[in-house]
Order: sequence, then structure tokens, then C-alpha cells
Amino acid sequence: MISVQLSDRVKNLPPYLFAAIDKMKQDALGKGVDLIDLSIGDPDIPTPEHIVDAMKKAVEKPVHHRYPSYEGMLSFRQAVAGWYKTRFNVSLNPANEVLSLIGSKEGIGHIPLAFVNPGDVVLVPSPGYPVYPVGTLFAGGESYIMPLKEENNFLPDLKIIPESVLKRAKLMYVNYPNNPTSATAPAGFYKEVIALAKKYNIIVCHDAAYSEVYYDNEKPMSFLELEGAKEVGVEMHSLSKTYNMTGWRIGFAVGNKDVLAGLGKIKTNLDSGVFQAIQEASIAAINTDDKILAEIRDTYQARRDALYNGLKNIGFHLIKPKATFYLWAKVPSGFDSQKFVAHLLEKTGVLTTPGVGFGAPGEGYVRFALTVPVERIKEAVERIKKVI
Ligand SMILES: *Cc1c(COP(=O)(O)O)cnc(C)c1O
Repeated sequence: MISVQLSDRVKNLPPYLFAAIDKMKQDALGKGVDLIDLSIGDPDIPTPEHIVDAMKKAVEKPVHHRYPSYEGMLSFRQAVAGWYKTRFNVSLNPANEVLSLIGSKEGIGHIPLAFVNPGDVVLVPSPGYPVYPVGTLFAGGESYIMPLKEENNFLPDLKIIPESVLKRAKLMYVNYPNNPTSATAPAGFYKEVIALAKKYNIIVCHDAAYSEVYYDNEKPMSFLELEGAKEVGVEMHSLSKTYNMTGWRIGFAVGNKDVLAGLGKIKTNLDSGVFQAIQEASIAAINTDDKILAEIRDTYQARRDALYNGLKNIGFHLIKPKATFYLWAKVPSGFDSQKFVAHLLEKTGVLTTPGVGFGAPGEGYVRFALTVPVERIKEAVERIKKVI
């Protein structure tokens, strides 16, 4: 028997904070508790029917059974470019400014491998999607944490980043609408990001996974709408959250062609692109009638209103989401985020995510996901009311 030793990069992964909560969840399920799981960032609504139908047809075509190209079918990239023009009035060249991804997580995780040398700095927002620091770690880079604070509307304060850090920085992650805080970003913030990136030669990777999950008809903008954005960076998009396609594994990156070419070099050497039948179904997804998307948004909006109003009425301090299907709330005094999540699970069977799981600056908050029906949300609020 050999002695199996993990690499340093795996040993150095951040501790898994949810182990204790996972165990409590399993125990609760074992005891037959009526669990209301508000911890999952995965839509409970099925993929719209016309997309599933397009997939059924596409899967029968032998032409799709072969290796796809890593950059994506031209027809898929053209559909993406068309959507960007209509939705954001941004022009993209499908030949070199659009790249298919096996889910946006793939692109977000791989991009440091293309541009970050050991010892280089990556600017990482926190609380945030754990793939930003982990992708950085796998490339041998150093994360510099940009805390997202409520008093700054959950935007990073770029002015406090030391010059010495900026000089070593190669890449910066930005994510709006934001998971987990649900914050959106104004044009002025993106302008600051672009100016900083130009001054210090930093590649910007904007994660826009939630750009289409918004409320009150306030459409979030694309970072690429701003002048100079395409000179400094790329935007990562996902079909997962917009079209309820998390299991299908498809996303795309758009923007700076040299950055996309660099990311493409990693992809040609590690993966073989997205199954073409999925790309064909995704063209149908991208061309979805806005009526269908409006219905999905209305569903989330009813849930948001039920949870926001419900929790506010029982004394929570929380942020009213303008986008995303998350609600970010302050933990009541006397608890830290993990203790509060454990308390709720034990006393009510309602499962949430502790803010600290998204990075140390998330301590003191808890994330509720709007991925259950309104009746269950109301039931969750009723139960929580009795134990706080
Ligand atoms: C869900 C999510 C993604 C990625 O989703 P994919 O399914 O990999 O496209 C990326 N960023 C954030 C912030 C997310 O929450």
C-alpha cells in the first residue's frame, strides 16, 4: 500500500466550515424533521420546456456526438453576441470576444491559471463565491481580501488597497449582483474599477451570474457597457441561474479577446468544450421569450417579499434584495453566524447558510436562499418567530 499524500494546494484549502451543519442536517433528516432548506443556491423551478424540447431534438443528431471545439459553436457564440447587443447594447465579435464555458464556475476557477504566477496577488471580494480564493490558491497566487461592508453598500473600498498590493496584483474578481449579499453595483463603481485596472495593469473578471435575476424591473447593468471595460477585462455569465439550468453545465465568458485567448489556452489543454447538443439547446435558452423569464422573476419576487417582510416584522435587520435569489440578514445579538444557523436548525428545522462560510468578513450575517415556494417561506418565518 502506498502512502497517499495530498498536494500542498489541496492541504491548503480553506477549512470546510459546513461539516458540523451537514451532520446536523443529516441527523434532522434521520429523525424525520420537516426540514425547510433555505441554504441551497440552486433553483427549484425546472428548466423551461422549450429548452428541454430543443435538447431532445439536438441529442439525436450524430453531428453533436463528437468532440466539440473548446471555444464553442459559432452559432452559440453568435446567439450570445446577439443577446448582449439587445440586452446591454454592447457589441461583441463572436469570433474572438465570446468563449463557451462548462459552467461559469469553470472559467472563474481556471482564469488564474492563465495569468497568475506563484506569488502574484489576486484581489478577492469577501464574503464571496469560494471559487475566487480557491482558483487563486490552485494557481499559486495570493488572495488579497477586499471586505464587502454594509456601510459601503457591499462594494469593496478600492481606495484602501495598498499601492504595494496593487503593484503585485494581476487579477481582480468583481461580482454584481452579488452572492451572498444581494447587492448591485452602480456605474460609478465599475468606472473606478476600470481606472484602477488601467493604472496598475490588472485584469478584471466580472462574475455576472445573477444579471437576469432582478426585482422591481430594475435591470442590472453589464460591466462591459462602460467605456474602457473591454480593454481591461471579461465578464463571466451563466445559463444556470437565468434559465434554471444548473445541472446542464454551460456558461460563457465575453470581453477582452487577449484575456479570452489566454483562458482558452488553459481550456484547450484541460477540457474539450461543451456537449454540442447542450449548446444548441442553450441557443433556444438565450432566445427565450421575455414573458417566460418575467414569470420566473415574479416567482422569486413573491418569495423575496414574503421572506423580507416576514423577517423584518419579527425584528431582523436585513437588506432588501434588488437582485439574486438570496437574502442577507444580520444574525441576532448573542450568536455568531454558525451558532445561529445551528440554533435555527435545531429548534425549527429551517436550514440557512452562515455568513462566515463565504469568508471572515461574512461573520455576523446569515444567507437565506429563495429556492422554496412562498408557503414554505411563510412557514419558516412562523417557526423562526418562536425561537428568537
Ligand atoms: C452559481 C454561481 C456561479 C456559477 O454557476 P455555474 O453553474 O458554474 O455557471 C458563479 N458565480 C456565482 C456568484 C454563483 O452564485
